[in-house]
Amino acid sequence: MAENLERLKQRMPLLEYLQRHNWKPCRAGTRQEFVGLCPLHQDTRPSFYVNAAKNLFYCHGCGRGGDLIRFVQLFFDLTFQQTVTLLQQELSPAPLSRLLEEAAAFYQFQLHRRPEAIRYLERRGLHDPALIEEMGIGYAPGGNLRRHLAALGYSFDLLLDSGLISRQGRDAFCHRVIFPCRQVGQILNLYGRSIGAAFPHRLLPRSKGGLFAWESVSVFSTVILVEGLFDLAVLWQAGFRNTTCAIGTQLTLAQLSQLAEQPSRSVYIAFDQDDNQAGQKGSHQLAHRLRGIGIRAHIVQLPHGHDPNSYFVTGATAADFTDCLERAQQL
Ligand SMILES: [Zn+2]
Repeated sequence: MAENLERLKQRMPLLEYLQRHNWKPCRAGTRQEFVGLCPLHQDTRPSFYVNAAKNLFYCHGCGRGGDLIRFVQLFFDLTFQQTVTLLQQELSPAPLSRLLEEAAAFYQFQLHRRPEAIRYLERRGLHDPALIEEMGIGYAPGGNLRRHLAALGYSFDLLLDSGLISRQGRDAFCHRVIFPCRQVGQILNLYGRSIGAAFPHRLLPRSKGGLFAWESVSVFSTVILVEGLFDLAVLWQAGFRNTTCAIGTQLTLAQLSQLAEQPSRSVYIAFDQDDNQAGQKGSHQLAHRLRGIGIRAHIVQLPHGHDPNSYFVTGATAADFTDCLERAQQL
């Protein structure tokens, strides 16, 4: 029992759980400490402290504190046993994670049978078959996922709950290139990039998890952070294996605390240099947040209008990108 509880808590860090329930810290105390309004009492001044390293909270307002289980118990007003059951249901969706594995494998198989998908990858500068395989990149042609998964015994309700199909039974990722987002080996989400006119980005309606491929990137003391998975893919292809991605410019607290795990870490932010300045603004905001938690942040300037992906697609080499890294401005 005690062992099960420990595993439960390891699988869902307290901070990530709070964020899933829309807790927003106002400021960070020390590197691993986050402060915000207390979800457990009517709080007007932030008095709820979360220590991400110890996985504990304490509120100076109502005096309550403890671990994830204690928080859930207080938050939902449950008995201890009810809390454990709730967390187990929420955190061990075994059929769901198997389902995501099946879906990803199906998409991966489809990729090589769909010339339009391969052409799209080539257009985005991705041509190394070993890397495409390693990242588990797939393609959703649309129209046949539901039949395939139903044949494997998955219920319509589970498919619907997962967000893989719509109420009408249509493939939610239709005509998208798929990247599985894994954490500690398990697929937490799928990212789908439209190859047609549909809105470019899509994730399943669940946590996007931590930073992309953090298990392999976290060993580096210098990390490159990009906005999108196609940026990451071309950088990996060019040998920059210290690249990670938050899928967007807004990092969750869990992702920030991953960067902060190593105090001496340097982060090179290489977001899009777009016309509306969103990427530039995002870079500066993030750089300031990182500096606030003690991390050296550098902003990488790419030629105007480029993101790392388009930069490589238009012929830049690893040496060109290294030049950009060397010229990056430290904040
Ligand atoms: Zn409180």
